[in-house]
Amino acid sequence: MTPGHPTSPRARRNRLLRVGLVLGAVGAVVAVAAVVVPLLLPPGPRPSFQLPVACGETWQLGTYPGHDDYDVDLFPTEGEAWGRPVLASDAGTVTEAGINGSLGGRTPDDPDGPRGRGGGYWVKIDHGGKWETQYLHLLEPPLVRVGQRVARGEQIGRVGSTGNSGAPHLHYEQHRGWQKVEAHFDGSPSGITHDDTEYTVTRTSNNCGPGAP
Ligand SMILES: [Zn+2]
Repeated sequence: MTPGHPTSPRARRNRLLRVGLVLGAVGAVVAVAAVVVPLLLPPGPRPSFQLPVACGETWQLGTYPGHDDYDVDLFPTEGEAWGRPVLASDAGTVTEAGINGSLGGRTPDDPDGPRGRGGGYWVKIDHGGKWETQYLHLLEPPLVRVGQRVARGEQIGRVGSTGNSGAPHLHYEQHRGWQKVEAHFDGSPSGITHDDTEYTVTRTSNNCGPGAP
């Protein structure tokens, strides 16, 4: 640039525009990478999930035609299902805590009340590494809120029959990435792998708190 020939306002404007465009493009690339890169990473190792019910309790795990592959319905083998504590299978961050579908009107006082739709009161927990768990048909609003960190074995709700539920029970799912997978508890597979027929297994909970193995 020759002294005495100051940059014209138009040239300055054009330079600012170019700088702005470059910064915008770099920002867009960074933003897209921040979204895309985590999607491309493979899922992490399976968390050490435990049964979502109290330590030492034995529950029946089952499914039936039309349920969905890998979906697990839990019923206690002893005592009432209503109001039993529902526990986080492992530590994580709550990503859903509210109403899925509609509640309906099935309560301990009116167990055959109007059926709701979907999951009713439900909770979803992100365990990191693309692993998540879901807990449906809870009796009351969840005891946790979105964004809250929970420990393994922490109570998140109580067993109910809200949503599309025939009888009080806990509907439970484990997801890896964007897919349901066979639920594992205490390091071993549940055996609930398809919904071609009705079948059940029984398991005893080793969800004995954050300090437990
Ligand atoms: Zn179910």
